[in-house]
Amino acid sequence: MSLPLILLSVVNLLDTSIEFLKGVGPKRADLLRSELQIFSFRDLLNYFPFRYIDRSQFLKISEIHDLDRLIQIRGRLRGIERVGKQRQQRLKAEFYDDSGSIELVWFKGIRFIAPSLKPNVEYVIFGKPNLFQNRLSFAHPELDVVTPEYLKKISGWQPVYSTTEKLSGKSLNSRGIEKLLKNLLPQVLEQIPETLNPELHHRLKLLTRAAAYRHIHFPSDQEQLEKARFRIKFEELFFTQLRLQKINLQHKLQYEGFVFTNVGEHFNSFYANHLPFELTGAQKRVMKEIRRDLGSGSHMNRLLQGDVGSGKTIVAVLCMLLAIDNGFQACIMAPTEILAQQHFQSISELLEPMGLKVGMLTGSVKKSERKPIHEDLLSGALKIVVGTHALLEDTVKFKNLGLAIIDEQHRFGVAQRAKLWLKNRNPPHVLVMTATPIPRTLAMTFYGDLDTSIIDELPPGRKPIKTVHYFENSRLKLNGFLKKEIEKGRQVYIVYPLIEESEKLDYADLMAGYEAIDRAFPKPKYQVSVVHGRMKSEDKEFEMQRFMKAQTDIMVATTVIEVGVNVPNASVMVIESSEKFGLSQLHQLRGRVGRGAEQSYCILMSGHKLSNDGKTRLKTMCSTNNGFEIAEVDLGLRGPGDIMGTQQSGLMDFKLASLTADGDLVKLSRHEAQVFLSDDPEMEKPENKRVQIRYKQLEKENPNWGRIS
Ligand code: ADP
Ligand code: MG
Repeated sequence: MSLPLILLSVVNLLDTSIEFLKGVGPKRADLLRSELQIFSFRDLLNYFPFRYIDRSQFLKISEIHDLDRLIQIRGRLRGIERVGKQRQQRLKAEFYDDSGSIELVWFKGIRFIAPSLKPNVEYVIFGKPNLFQNRLSFAHPELDVVTPEYLKKISGWQPVYSTTEKLSGKSLNSRGIEKLLKNLLPQVLEQIPETLNPELHHRLKLLTRAAAYRHIHFPSDQEQLEKARFRIKFEELFFTQLRLQKINLQHKLQYEGFVFTNVGEHFNSFYANHLPFELTGAQKRVMKEIRRDLGSGSHMNRLLQGDVGSGKTIVAVLCMLLAIDNGFQACIMAPTEILAQQHFQSISELLEPMGLKVGMLTGSVKKSERKPIHEDLLSGALKIVVGTHALLEDTVKFKNLGLAIIDEQHRFGVAQRAKLWLKNRNPPHVLVMTATPIPRTLAMTFYGDLDTSIIDELPPGRKPIKTVHYFENSRLKLNGFLKKEIEKGRQVYIVYPLIEESEKLDYADLMAGYEAIDRAFPKPKYQVSVVHGRMKSEDKEFEMQRFMKAQTDIMVATTVIEVGVNVPNASVMVIESSEKFGLSQLHQLRGRVGRGAEQSYCILMSGHKLSNDGKTRLKTMCSTNNGFEIAEVDLGLRGPGDIMGTQQSGLMDFKLASLTADGDLVKLSRHEAQVFLSDDPEMEKPENKRVQIRYKQLEKENPNWGRIS
């Protein structure tokens, strides 16, 4: 069906409904829409092959090992015969080369196919082999007579598109889709606009956009394909980075930041009299970065990354003091009750000696206790509050909130972060702290709209934790080791996995483990605490307190202690069934020890059966204490979706680029976006017109794009 002229003149050709492509029509169009979400010419153009077959390669029959691959073989036919009767009839032939033979079978169209099969003619068969009655065979292979013209035609790379059974039923298998693209490309290539400026094109030696689209579908060789992929990935990442950085710039221009220029009474007095230790170089550097933001007059939106135990809390406290010295209030929000309580405790301990009160608001704080906190926040009597989501409730109003610190562990959504902004006439400065390091490429993408500070140094005097992996048969050795450490006066954690779906099982594991430990470490010589999710919180608290006061030697627990306690005298962390934990969890758990001056140990217990990923995780834990390295391995194992949670603002909807595999490209595109915007922040120079047009178009297509922080 051809397109009415009048339509052509008003719409972009790429927006044309797929129905109007030659070879499609209404029925196939319906299927393309419902099965592959291909609605328009543009969608089809962006439907990339998932792999390619090198059709210059022929396989010998003896070389067929893989039943799932499309292959081609050169050979001849013999033994052509019809077998079976009537409707059961099949057409069979033996196909052979100098290495062996296989069977070809046809069930349909026999009347047409049979006359065309000739012995002693050389053919190419193309298709997927299958195993039938223990013999390799091909059903309905493509079969072509070998001629010089034919060989020329097929040489090169053939795209393979994923498709569905329904589509294949309407002849839209991979070959069918390939044909559609062959119809589409000549029509639209001229219509594909350039999107990058000429300078960038030239410097990065990029293909034109049209060439990239042509070669991604029909590359003539590997090199061309790589170039096409590079061009398309770069574009995806570049515009994402432009977007993120533009948001960052806009923030700074749009929102006036409260200016914290005073380093006053509270900060100075704390620094002089109450700082329990000297700050590390990294902590000092980070404080400088933050203070520069806070004094700048623009709004701070900063990510603070630091490994477990690197000392983020003190940085948070110092920032809050700055806020107070400048007449503002500060809050810190944590994703869980336990974490909020822990912050409350450690921050109160630091600030109470100087007479500063800290409030706490979480779901479990009683209504009657909340009311005075609400009142004091509104009057300004209370300067610092720690809490969970409860802080976001509308009933929580501040007199003058100037700084919001979010300890996030990737758990707060965009909208939630934004809610904090409405708590004052201008948005408060925002500092996001992450408890686990995030791989660089992810940080650049997910927090690309934030400025970043990194604490990359542990407080002095820490001995690196020694980590070993034991199998179950080393349990006696383990117990012996634990006894020696306990005799030296140390304390021990023994942690069991807690997986929500099988809570019962985990509980059983924990209790069985507890009994075994009780037998191996008899009273009264040894004292053992146990803490798990089914206990009442008073009982939990009681047991935790006993352990903190060193009244017990061993704390047996599920992962509740992951974020809950700080016991510097505990120097051994035993993780049971460690193969069931994810890397970042293992790393977090390990971070519970190594907080005192003693040599600390982490012992990973596991069964003998380990998956490859499980092995990699345990090996990684034994080989490094560096959270950033661990995060990189984790990214490789799990992929970005799993790490960040999948529904983050459409930022991950890359067609081709991968945050896992294309780290260098992410960095490059980020750098180029920075260079670009510092030269032309509004994208208004004539040579940047195309970038601006594309940018605006993407903004329109992805309304969620901007809602990141
Ligand atoms: P995290 O970054 O994991 O939140 P914390 O802030 O809880 O780390 O700090 C971990 C431990 O290190 C705490 O016991 C804290 O008192 C201590 N600490 C932090 N900074 C220093 C420092 N500069 N010198 C010595 N100890 C420090
Ligand atoms: Mg912390």
